[in-house]
Amino acid sequence: MEILLAKSAGFCFGVQRAVDTAYEHADEENVYTYGQIIHNEEVVGDLTKHGVQVIDSDDELLEIKDSKVIIRSHGAEKRIYDILEAGGNTVIDATCPFVKKIHNIVREEGQKGNTVVIIGDSSHPEVKGIVGWCVEPPVVIGSEEGAEAFVRKYIDGEVKTADNISIVSQTTFNYRKFNYIVDIIRNKLYNVTAYKTICNATSVRQREAQEIASKVDAMIVIGGRNSSNTQKLYEISKKECENTYYIQTLVDLDLTTFESVSRVGITAGASTPNKIIKEVHGRMDEMNFEELLKNDESRVSIKTGEIVEGRVIDVKPD
Ligand code: SF4
Repeated sequence: MEILLAKSAGFCFGVQRAVDTAYEHADEENVYTYGQIIHNEEVVGDLTKHGVQVIDSDDELLEIKDSKVIIRSHGAEKRIYDILEAGGNTVIDATCPFVKKIHNIVREEGQKGNTVVIIGDSSHPEVKGIVGWCVEPPVVIGSEEGAEAFVRKYIDGEVKTADNISIVSQTTFNYRKFNYIVDIIRNKLYNVTAYKTICNATSVRQREAQEIASKVDAMIVIGGRNSSNTQKLYEISKKECENTYYIQTLVDLDLTTFESVSRVGITAGASTPNKIIKEVHGRMDEMNFEELLKNDESRVSIKTGEIVEGRVIDVKPD
């Protein structure tokens, strides 16, 4: 079995930076992250062991005083910073610079009086964070249908916008889908400016996943269930390769599925630690080796250095 491992699999720059920041403050007193630093139970569990606690709710947020609070790569609403600072806390901002740039764009566009449209999943923390930096409540659109509904309502006079519309995107949004949605809006509304704020790391990973998935018999996508960028990799891969499997760790991998596979692809979301990717890759490699042994019926008679069918087999002593 040939294994194609995506070069872009695993931690992106922003996630690596946030995780490193959390580890820099591990074992110090009163350190928190606002939400889980990444969607990965293993990393979060390890940080907890080193005293880095997670703030999960607004109630907890209000209780935290005189502590260090790390904002993860997704970023957070402006009000979160305000609450933390009012409590005498030190905010350690590990918001990814690409996300921070979107916060700045929406704030500046809002200050100019423009209507902000965010293309993304309204329930995702990154999008909630972006919404929280808008001057006026923005429009959040997650799909082509959502864009069509928005345009219809605009034409029917059910929604009003400013003269200028400024569009941004969640960094992990699918690039093609973003272009479709922008086209739907641009075809009906005037003065539309679209900022392509999809992160390069995401589009590189998505393109590579698509390319690999189009060449293999089975595709493995590794990442946390809640990781939106992993879910998108799964969607993209599934379109190209019907046998695409979404796993969180090696434990989820049903190896019997791969017995008749001759080419397998592996990719992973931005919050998947290298360790897990290596484990999965290693296991597929082992399968190859086991398969080789199973198929080599002459192995029982092989001794060190013996020539079998023209090959020198170097058998290590037990
Ligand atoms: Fe930053 Fe891109 Fe990683 Fe998101 S995917 S954290 S925007 S580097």
